[in-house]
Amino acid sequence: MTNKLRQLPSVDRLLAEEKLKELESSFPHDLIVSLARESLACYRTSISQGKDPPSMAEIVDNIYCQGQALSSVSLRPLINATGVILHTNLGRAPLSEEAIAAMNNVSRGYNNLEFDMESGERGSRHTHIESLLCRLTGAEEGLVVNNNASAVLLGLSALAKRKEVIVSRGQAVEIGGGFRIPDVMRQSGAKLIEVGTTNCTYIQDFEQAITPKTAALLRVHTSNFKVLGYTHTVVLEEMAALGKAKNLLVLDDLGSGCLLDTARFGLDPEPTIQQSIETGADLAFFSGDKLLGGPQAGIIVGKKVYIDKLKKHPLVRAMRIDKTRIAGLSATLLHYLKGEAILKIPVWQMISLPVAEIERRAHIWAAPSGSMARVINGESLIGGGSLPGDTLPTCLLAIGDSKKPALAHKIARHLRLQKNPIIGRISENILLLDPRTVSPGDDEAVIMGLQKAIESITGA
Ligand SMILES: *Cc1c(COP(=O)(O)O)cnc(C)c1O
Repeated sequence: MTNKLRQLPSVDRLLAEEKLKELESSFPHDLIVSLARESLACYRTSISQGKDPPSMAEIVDNIYCQGQALSSVSLRPLINATGVILHTNLGRAPLSEEAIAAMNNVSRGYNNLEFDMESGERGSRHTHIESLLCRLTGAEEGLVVNNNASAVLLGLSALAKRKEVIVSRGQAVEIGGGFRIPDVMRQSGAKLIEVGTTNCTYIQDFEQAITPKTAALLRVHTSNFKVLGYTHTVVLEEMAALGKAKNLLVLDDLGSGCLLDTARFGLDPEPTIQQSIETGADLAFFSGDKLLGGPQAGIIVGKKVYIDKLKKHPLVRAMRIDKTRIAGLSATLLHYLKGEAILKIPVWQMISLPVAEIERRAHIWAAPSGSMARVINGESLIGGGSLPGDTLPTCLLAIGDSKKPALAHKIARHLRLQKNPIIGRISENILLLDPRTVSPGDDEAVIMGLQKAIESITGA
């Protein structure tokens, strides 16, 4: 083994290679030395585990690739052809042109983030969005923080610490990515009181659980699963009435935070923020980057007395959002105010896209791929913790051969690793690409990418 280890070149020897000298034009010398050392250390480990020593060219290539990877931002755009509109792993909601422009506009220079233009004195970053939120939701006041998980944590910390919060057992849920209601509750210092059973909870269950220590009744939208069959849930109306009678807070974690009626698009009705406020929730919590279609944010709307309490809590400072997202969120909310949300916000454009239009594009995608691809009927998903299990009819480009299971995976991998990555989904060894979640401006890129992938895999 020592012999094999000796076959590894020295750092100096490596740095003398032409290809690595090339890296010197982009990076400081010290960084390239570090990359070379790290790479050699990796090879030493693999040799000590019994692997053969690499060739000089292989090591140089490895270091060069590491350098290349450092020369561009790791987070980069891709084409989402999965048909999942709000894909949390793929960055959730794409933004409207106006939202992007607003974010750009405040990035380049200075701005009035915390500056009152009238008085010329210090202002508050919260003022920029507050009135928009109130107008759209009917709430008395609003507050925006980093994301909905932090919004809920803030609400519970500020209003229910060392007190009890009653939640239906069927709603003490995990949203994914580590957001679990019992954990958030513990972190806030509030005590979770679960009532009812997994499938059935009644308002009497809430009523019987009230003690002098109870601070709030919490509803959590079961945003990523469905309970079917014999079920009973407590509606917000009942919770609001009970809260009022017993002088308890009623909190509503809406998850997605929808302002439009999803039933218009043939979907299940997702609870809207306006309904929540109208029904009597004291505070409603929702995300900026789910069905709202804006940048990542956690939005709280509701009664002024409580929002004012939240604003004074030290956590607000730790959860605040920056100027770019305030700008992007404002521009997104303005679309709703102007009645142009469906036309301008990509999430709603995708939801409202007619199947005939999707089918037309699927055929255009299919044409250059020959016999490898065909257009089939399928379903698009909303995703991102909204409308669980609910789908929109769509047309898909289906690529592969169910008798050659490796083929679809190979093409999918090729598409993923292209310079302009395209992400699809694989079902029963067939690669499916859904035009619904692809901007028409990217159609050309999909067609080119597909051709390249198919050529390279099949040698056609
Ligand atoms: C998505 C979701 C959250 C978390 O929201 P983020 O904005 O991702 O932090 C919390 N509660 C519910 C019900 C959700 O659906």
